[in-house]
Amino acid sequence: MQTLIPASWAAVGHGIPSVCSRHGLAATLRARTRFESAPAGWTYALIPLGLLAFLIVRAVTRHVVDAPVWHYCDRCRSRRRRQRVGFGLLTAVGFAIPVAAMASAADGPVASLLTAAAVIALIVGYIGLVRARWEVIAQARVTRDGQWIAVRDPAPEFDAEFTAAMTAAVTGPQQYAPAATPAVPAAPASAHWSSPR
Ligand SMILES: [Zn+2]
Repeated sequence: MQTLIPASWAAVGHGIPSVCSRHGLAATLRARTRFESAPAGWTYALIPLGLLAFLIVRAVTRHVVDAPVWHYCDRCRSRRRRQRVGFGLLTAVGFAIPVAAMASAADGPVASLLTAAAVIALIVGYIGLVRARWEVIAQARVTRDGQWIAVRDPAPEFDAEFTAAMTAAVTGPQQYAPAATPAVPAAPASAHWSSPR
């Protein structure tokens, strides 16, 4: 299940629920959040041509919505803090291992083992730090057409609050500050959640 929020609303902070999208709890932090779209499936076919080609096409085709308002609860914040500290330490260990290996003049199988350990620590640490971004904590990303922010498995409280804002915008434009309500784009043809990270 997902909730679709018009990108035009998110970009100006309109209709964003006051609870967090992951837990539905009262917000204790309001943070600017940058949402991105997932790479289109075909762009992965460029990886054999080189990572650079993939990254360039990815950068050109990516949709980004910079939301000035998104809410997070205490659990969201501690989750982010834990991830940043844990994976940050792991990344630091990944950098420290080669230095320690050189200092102790390790060689042969010990050196190979240390190199493998360092590479694994760096990869896992990097992925963990990427997953600590607010966008991932919020469980949301921009749809491929750039028109919506899709919140995956939103908390019922979040969904209910957004649905109420949406209903108010559709049914009562005269009472609901029409000038401040950005236009809602046409329904998405295929806005489904895919390619989880
Ligand atoms: Zn939360």
